[in-house]
Amino acid sequence: MTPAVAAFPLPGVATPAPRIATTAVGPPSIDRREVVGIDELAPLLDGRWVPYVNLDNAATTPALQSVLDAVTDLLPRYASVHRGTGYKSRCTTEAYERARRVVGRFVGADPDLDTVVFGKHTTDAVNTLAQAVVLPDDAVVITTVLEHHSNDLPWRKRARVLHVQATPCGTLDEDHLDELLARHAGRIGMVCVTGASNVTGVVPRIHAIAERVHAAGGLVMVDAAQLAAHRPIDLRPHDDPGHLDFVALSGHKVYAPFGAGALIGRRDALGAVPHHPGGGTVEAVTLTDVRWAELPDREEGGSPNVLGAVALAAAVERLEAVGLERIAEHERRLVRHVTTRLRALPGVRLHAPDADAVDRVGVVPFTVEGIEHGLLAAVLGHEHGIGIRSGCFCAHPYIAHLLGLTAADVLGAPPGRLGAARVSVAAYTDQCDIDRLVHALTAVCDGEIRGDYRQLATGDWVPRRPIADLTA
Ligand code: PMP
Repeated sequence: MTPAVAAFPLPGVATPAPRIATTAVGPPSIDRREVVGIDELAPLLDGRWVPYVNLDNAATTPALQSVLDAVTDLLPRYASVHRGTGYKSRCTTEAYERARRVVGRFVGADPDLDTVVFGKHTTDAVNTLAQAVVLPDDAVVITTVLEHHSNDLPWRKRARVLHVQATPCGTLDEDHLDELLARHAGRIGMVCVTGASNVTGVVPRIHAIAERVHAAGGLVMVDAAQLAAHRPIDLRPHDDPGHLDFVALSGHKVYAPFGAGALIGRRDALGAVPHHPGGGTVEAVTLTDVRWAELPDREEGGSPNVLGAVALAAAVERLEAVGLERIAEHERRLVRHVTTRLRALPGVRLHAPDADAVDRVGVVPFTVEGIEHGLLAAVLGHEHGIGIRSGCFCAHPYIAHLLGLTAADVLGAPPGRLGAARVSVAAYTDQCDIDRLVHALTAVCDGEIRGDYRQLATGDWVPRRPIADLTA
């Protein structure tokens, strides 16, 4: 078999690190044995291989065994979808439509009033909504400073966009939202807010916000990319004032692979003409006329990613079975533990509101005095086998706010220079993972960087050569 990652040879000798049973954060809410690849080793610059610690879950979560099983189960019966009448086509179509029902149920969608549109990811879902939603010509769209670019830029193409500010500590400034709603009364189209920030983990009060937006005559969409794997989501009944009109999410952030996401929400708010017309979006076409298909087909132009949707559904079914409240409790303990441990390290500065005071999913942004965030991430990866993320996390305005940067700083900086490091935990993270991180950061804060690194034009840091070569 050809290895998928040719650059990384398989390890000759493994150096297993003992997993010590500790109790401060309790057992993981998802059994680590359910995580595909949990025992994978990572090569270090000094030639050793150690168990990989993934603390970059806000970017992408690993796949669960149930996801792998669902895909493996369908693959032998995988064929054309929707219009095929053969046995395998029927199996594929049923699996795809079942996935739609599962994902709708996962967020509490009303099967009569809501639609589930599968797409590539959250970015795709937000773009679909931004293009397809029916809004008055003079409508304003309100988004927030906390957003990932994917819940801001698609709206700038569609309407006049206003941004709700963040408070000095980095939470959503609800008073400013009220001000904007009052100032633009009668013209509020859509209010787009993150369900959980990918930078600080802050969890805005989405249902309370929805009540205010509905009272002002607007619709609400929630970017649930960071929320879905960490907290229960409930759209609530359509006649509930706190009802969420739309949510968007990605499979690769809920323990399924890349390539599938969903937009879920009200059918009656989407236009009759698809935003992405093509095969599958029509009922009839002549050389001059088109009769468009019903939802969701109308918004799913092209052949769909059936396996991705099935994987996504298998993942959220597993999360439901484990219990999102249970996952949330474990992750709350983890984030408090991580922040306490990091805060105790000399030179480490945290850039998020206090986890004891503000509800947050398990995302912890920080910087270390005297070491660039990208170099720090490279050292953790190459010398300690720990994966974290660094940079601006596709949320430049929010990072600028948290770090006190001006717009000129943001626009003028070379690629990759601004930003912070980010640790993000998940349901399977345990205390040994955090202990490994703290151990490594302690060494780095003590000035222990053994490799020789250089910075690329992209801003990324890479080792020039293995440590073994340096000492030879
Ligand atoms: N919103 C948030 C809050 C995110 O964290 C991300 C991914 N980092 C996205 C949107 C975009 O997700 P995707 O890349 O899957 O489209």
